[in-house]
Amino acid sequence: MNVYDSARMADVLAPLGYTPAAAVEDADMVILNTCHVREHAAEKVFSELGRLRLLKQARAERGSGLIIAVAGCVAQAEGEEILARAPFVDIVMGPQTYHRLPEMVAKASRAGGRVLDTDFPAEPKFDHLPAPTARGPSAFLSVQEGCDKFCTFCVVPYTRGAEYSRPVAAIVDEARSLAERGVREITLLGQNVNGYHGESSDGRGWGLGRLIRALAELPGIERIRYTTSHPRDLDDELIAAHGAVDKLMPFLHLPVQSGSDRILAAMNRQHTADEYRRLADRLRAARPDLALSSDFIVGFPGESEDDFDATLRLIRDIGFAQAYSFKYSPRPGTPAAAMGQQVAEAVKERRLAAVHETLGRQAQAFNGDCVGRRFDVLLDRPGRHEGQLLGRSPYMQAVYATLPESMLNTVQRLRVVEAHANSLGAVLDSEAATGERACA
Ligand code: SAH
Ligand code: SF4
Repeated sequence: MNVYDSARMADVLAPLGYTPAAAVEDADMVILNTCHVREHAAEKVFSELGRLRLLKQARAERGSGLIIAVAGCVAQAEGEEILARAPFVDIVMGPQTYHRLPEMVAKASRAGGRVLDTDFPAEPKFDHLPAPTARGPSAFLSVQEGCDKFCTFCVVPYTRGAEYSRPVAAIVDEARSLAERGVREITLLGQNVNGYHGESSDGRGWGLGRLIRALAELPGIERIRYTTSHPRDLDDELIAAHGAVDKLMPFLHLPVQSGSDRILAAMNRQHTADEYRRLADRLRAARPDLALSSDFIVGFPGESEDDFDATLRLIRDIGFAQAYSFKYSPRPGTPAAAMGQQVAEAVKERRLAAVHETLGRQAQAFNGDCVGRRFDVLLDRPGRHEGQLLGRSPYMQAVYATLPESMLNTVQRLRVVEAHANSLGAVLDSEAATGERACA
């Protein structure tokens, strides 16, 4: 979501003559777009600001200026504190007000004109944003924002605000305009993306499944993904779309957080571990090769060894293609931060290592099974090494291959020849031996 927001900020600033700088040293303005979801991310903001202060000082000595802005959820949650602790910051804006950047920049350019704008405007920012610029063949498209779920560990409902779904027509227009500019893959974004219930021209609220079917009709759009979903809002229509819509990629990030019913209840996740297992079964019945990914939190307040074992059991039962795991991080103002029985850091460390290990083995096995398989890969960026191109498999694995630069931004059928922990090495299928099974 922050990557999307940052791109949209660049779109808003383009008419003012701003273009992206190659390095921070070359910039006239620096915007830190921040994340507040875990403490570590929030802390980084102040260390980054320390570096920018020096840059601004050096500029001032040479008689030129630097506008420093802090955006995103840290700005939303700690705006006043940022202005007080960092007097060299010119603009502080929340995630719902960046469409007002031109006015903010004008104000900040005047002497003493510092700006704090952390409103939740009644009119959504989307109504004021310019058409998005396509930056390669794969694009994010925000369809839903905010969250009403109030998981007890999470700051998002406080920093992003209440759930809002963009109208169907606005999303279809944005997707069409992206497709006209060469975008082949769209990833629909929302904090609780499958809570989507946008207004449509037939006057009914459409769910995400219905929206995906409509987007799949658009010429040029070849692949659709969405993130991040909540198990509780995964309805029949969306599950059916996984079986019916070829363009919907066979990968789903479906955070579960814990395998213990007691902890899931304390987290206010509104489902049990077995309900999650059943969802996975139903998704796989609709799309047998669906790869699942998830998020896990270890060391939530009151998590016992039995609770933690239940998480490991769930991981083994489901089998994830990849997943993220985090130590519980108390966030100011959330109910869990005030709960008793906070778990000791050393216990969190041990549990995180165990979860990592189990998930890592599953990811390695999933990647290993792909050797010899053929994937259509959208090659959307240069690889790390000279002559390499990089893209994503239908299952979201990073796939690299040595290929001519002319193939950048195209879909190519590749044959996987190597598996690593977080990536796959591949060759063009024409170089591959014939007679291999094709897939996806
Ligand atoms: N909307 C998504 C995820 C939002 S935040 C969902 O419903 O799951 C992304 C991930 O960060 C979460 O899935 C969770 O695993 C993690 N996270 C959020 N708050 C956290 C906290 N206080 N401590 C540790 N991890 C957290
Ligand atoms: Fe946070 Fe996701 Fe829960 Fe919403 S559903 S409160 S974004 S973890």
